[in-house]
Amino acid sequence: TEYKASQKRYQNMTYNRTGKSGVLLPAISLGLWHNFGFIDNLQNGREIMRSAFDLGITHFDLANNYGPPYGSAEKNFGTILKEDFKQYRDELFIATKAGYDMWPGPYGNWGSRKYLIASLDQSLKRMGLDYVDIFYHHRPDSQTPLEETMGALADIVRQGKALYVGISNYKLEETQQAASFLKELKVPFVLHQARYSMFDRWVENGLLDTLERNGVGCIAFSPLAQGMLTNKYLHGVPEDSRAAKSLTYLNTDTVYGNLEKIKKLHDIAQERGQKLSQMAIAWILRQPTIASVLLGASSANQLKENVKALDNLEFSDEELELINRIVS
Ligand code: NDP
Repeated sequence: TEYKASQKRYQNMTYNRTGKSGVLLPAISLGLWHNFGFIDNLQNGREIMRSAFDLGITHFDLANNYGPPYGSAEKNFGTILKEDFKQYRDELFIATKAGYDMWPGPYGNWGSRKYLIASLDQSLKRMGLDYVDIFYHHRPDSQTPLEETMGALADIVRQGKALYVGISNYKLEETQQAASFLKELKVPFVLHQARYSMFDRWVENGLLDTLERNGVGCIAFSPLAQGMLTNKYLHGVPEDSRAAKSLTYLNTDTVYGNLEKIKKLHDIAQERGQKLSQMAIAWILRQPTIASVLLGASSANQLKENVKALDNLEFSDEELELINRIVS
């Protein structure tokens, strides 16, 4: 059936300014790392995207190798865009990346100019787009001069293939160096995409401050620790869960290793009248440098539930202290 976006789509979402830029991002964004490959059901992906947009989620995050197989999430995303979102292109903020393994040989990985420019051209074709809104270098490459990688990002913007650029998984020092190069090159560097959740707080040790000083925003990935910070694993590992499928480093052992903490956090969420996933999202949004929480979802219902996090973003000092004690 034909998709008509909800008239109310902008009524309940919050939009946050990203660093010192003109970009406003929804407080909650959708990532297509999982559930959008050729191994997945396209109709389910379509429903997730439709409900995302109806909820005011305007930002979709991809990468060249999301799938599996590599490239298939971009291809499926392109199909859904063409069929459902053609008239909404300018209401969307679309991201892709290159930096991890993509194609065989010396030019399909890491951070060379050769790889980044060729990869983005492929991504644009798969998605059926003339340009992306933001292009990221996906991870640092200690072997390639940073100047070359940042120079490639600059040329990508000058060629009109991306409006803004970002980096991901760069540590503190590398981030400052990248920011300095991009500033010199006058490139709109607006986002650092970093792992951040109650189970991984590394960004609190200087990264967020560095970004703030440079006028760059942060978008937090795996905010639910891939599903551990939800109700999903309270009573075991369901068969259709990400941990059971073992597609990533999330597996049954990781889940059981964290179960005591998960249960205690779940109790706090209940006291707050929230789902654990909702509390985990709200907890990230307490940081002003975080422009958006980048969620994954295997169903439209998960997304609908998670967006309700925005109904209660306040934490008492006591709650924050309790959470600190549980997760440290
Ligand atoms: P999350 O931590 O949000 O995990 C999402 C998963 O949690 C869902 O797929 C689902 O898994 C489960 N889940 C979500 N909501 C609920 C709920 N309400 N109840 C029960 N289970 C729930 O994020 P991801 O790890 O998926 O990462 C999000 C995005 O971040 C990615 O899509 C990608 O765009 C980006 N990312 C970027 C990286 C980088 O290096 N830059 C690395 C990793 C991610 P299930 O299948 O079990 O239902």
